[in-house]
Parts: sequence; C-alpha cells; structure tokens
Amino acid sequence: MKDSHGRTIDYLRISLTDRCNFRCIYCMPEEGVCQLGHQEILSLEEIERLVRVAADLGITSVRLTGGEPLVRKGVESLVEAVTHTPGIQNVSMTTNGVLLPQMADDLKAAGLNRVNISLDTLDAEQFRQVTRVGRLEDTLAGIDAALETGFKPVKVNAVTVRSLDQDFLAFAKLSVDRPLHVRFIEFMPVGASDSTGVNGAGWGKQDVIPSDELLGIINERAREAGMPALRPAGNKPVGWGPAQYYEFPGAQGTVGFISPLSRHFCAECNRLRVTADGKIRPCLFSDNEFDVREALRGGTDDEVRAVLLEALGAKPDDHHDKVGTERGMSAIGG
Ligand code: SAM
Ligand code: SF4
Repeated sequence: MKDSHGRTIDYLRISLTDRCNFRCIYCMPEEGVCQLGHQEILSLEEIERLVRVAADLGITSVRLTGGEPLVRKGVESLVEAVTHTPGIQNVSMTTNGVLLPQMADDLKAAGLNRVNISLDTLDAEQFRQVTRVGRLEDTLAGIDAALETGFKPVKVNAVTVRSLDQDFLAFAKLSVDRPLHVRFIEFMPVGASDSTGVNGAGWGKQDVIPSDELLGIINERAREAGMPALRPAGNKPVGWGPAQYYEFPGAQGTVGFISPLSRHFCAECNRLRVTADGKIRPCLFSDNEFDVREALRGGTDDEVRAVLLEALGAKPDDHHDKVGTERGMSAIGG
C-alpha cells in the first residue's frame, strides 16, 4: 500500500482502550478523565475485521497500544485473532508492564512475540511522581516477566524530559547484562501536556532533549564512570522502526534514540493509527481523522477499505514542526 508521497504503509497501530491503570502526567489528567463509553469504543470483533481488511490492503505489522492495552478485557483472544490473520507477520504491544507478570504466558501462547515496556525513570519516588499512581517495582517485574517468557525483542521505552533529571546512563546500562533494547524517545508536547500544563506536567518544548545532545550526555557520563562509549550498533535488525541504534561493546542489548522532533523521520513513515473509538489518524501530530467505526458497524468490507484508503491518501509528507494535537497520547494510542 503506497501513500501519495510514495511511502509504503504496512504498519497499523491500534489503540485498544483509552483507559489506563496509570495516570502519567504527560499523558492524562489526574482526575476527570473523560472516558469513552462502551458503545463508543470498537469491539474486539470490529478490530479483528478492521485488521483483516487492512491486511488485504498490505498491512503486515500491527501494534496494540492504548491507554493500557492489558486492561482491555479479552486482549488475549484479540492477539490470537490478529496473529492468525492472513498477511499479518508481526504483532507487538506497547504496555506499562504492570499486568505482564500475570498475563505474559497467555499472551505468548496467543502468539504475541514482541513487547515494548514504557519506563521513564529508575527512581521509585520519581516513578510515582510521573505515573501518579504506579509503583516502580511493578513495571520492573513486568520487564522480568517479559524476558522470562521469552518475548523477543523486549524493548524499554523511556521518554526523556529535561526538567525530570533522569539518570540516562543507568537506563543505557540496562542493555548490558540482559537482552534489553532501551530506547530514548524525545518528549512530545502534545495534547494537554503542552506548555499550558493542563495535565499538571507543565512541560513544554523546552523539555525536549534532542537525541544528539542525549548521546553526548550518556557518553560523557560513561567516560566519567570508566565505561566505553556507545558505538553504532552493528546489526540493527530490519523492521525495527525509526530509532537509531547504538550499543556498549559486548552488551546483550542496544540503546536506541527516537527523535520525532529533532530528526523528522516522516520520510520513513510507514504507519496509520486507529484510535479506540475507531478513527483512523494518518499522522500522530495532526487532528485530521477518518471515522471507520460506522463502516465497521453495518458497512461492507469495501466501505471499510474505502475509509482506510481515504486516510492513506491524507497522510501528510511531514509534520512540519506542528506537534500540538487536541487529543492526549492515551486517546490517540501513543
Ligand atoms: N500504556 C501503554 C504504555 O504506557 O506503554 C501504552 C500507551 S502509551 C500512550 C504509549 C507510549 O506513549 C508510552 O511509551 C508513553 O511514554 C508515550 N507517551 C505518552 N505521552 C507522551 C508524550 N507526550 N511524549 C512522548 N511520549 C509519550
Ligand atoms: Fe497510561 Fe501509558 Fe498514558 Fe502512562 S503513558 S497514562 S501508562 S497510557
């Protein structure tokens, strides 16, 4: 499936729910979260059908996200259905990890192979501050469970924020002794976490740490600690998305940098997004959305296909530094 800028689009990110067991300050308000009603969110059957039609058009990879995808009832059976959809080769999930210790085995049995676990700080106090309600040990247990269950790869995604004062070297070192792939993601001032600070974060553009600067910070800290510097990773597996990968010599895992703001990777964009309420978003940073829910509830497969193709045709060539959107990440499906 090619868009109007010649890019191959083969990746669908689906938000299974706008609900979450955390309340991260850059993602959701503390209280008064305006949750979608049961009728508003796509049913699991509707999602399965959407994936089937999308796979017919050439989608080969699906990522399940949210909100927190693991709080969606029946997620295991959805994983099973999606992994068995003809044409789908990769199914992955982005999660805060809290429910993995109890769910990882079933998810693996259902066919899930790849997980990304979000973890922004290794300091328990700071973790509580960022997630408002979460406990560091729960997400760390989720990472342990993911490795023990044999997911491959297991990636740890950390959003970097200047005013947070995170220990970036400690994060990078997680990649040394275990096959963990740590990825640093530039904070995106989207939704209500922008400079108005409605979500309580009060973070803005000034909090974006460009990846090049971050690499320098980590290498400087490594030098002070008597460690070798990060070097470009030898064999970055194909299909690993828009990160630039590095590694410490002899490490089991890698350290990646994802730079949505300092290095636009729009030219390599391969994705469409689906919100929990059935809107196709051609671009994370644009509020231009296409409603596929109606077609899924009474329309034919051709009508579903038509909405997908309309959204495909509306993919912009670049986000042109416009990063503000009306909806926060939990609603869009970060
Ligand atoms: N609940 C799951 C989780 O946290 O992994 C999946 C959904 S969450 C919205 C997906 C990812 O978006 C997380 O890694 C989170 O850190 C990231 N995210 C949320 N708001 C963000 C922001 N303003 N800038 C950058 N990343 C953000
Ligand atoms: Fe929940 Fe993920 Fe948003 Fe945090 S980032 S509030 S874990 S959806």
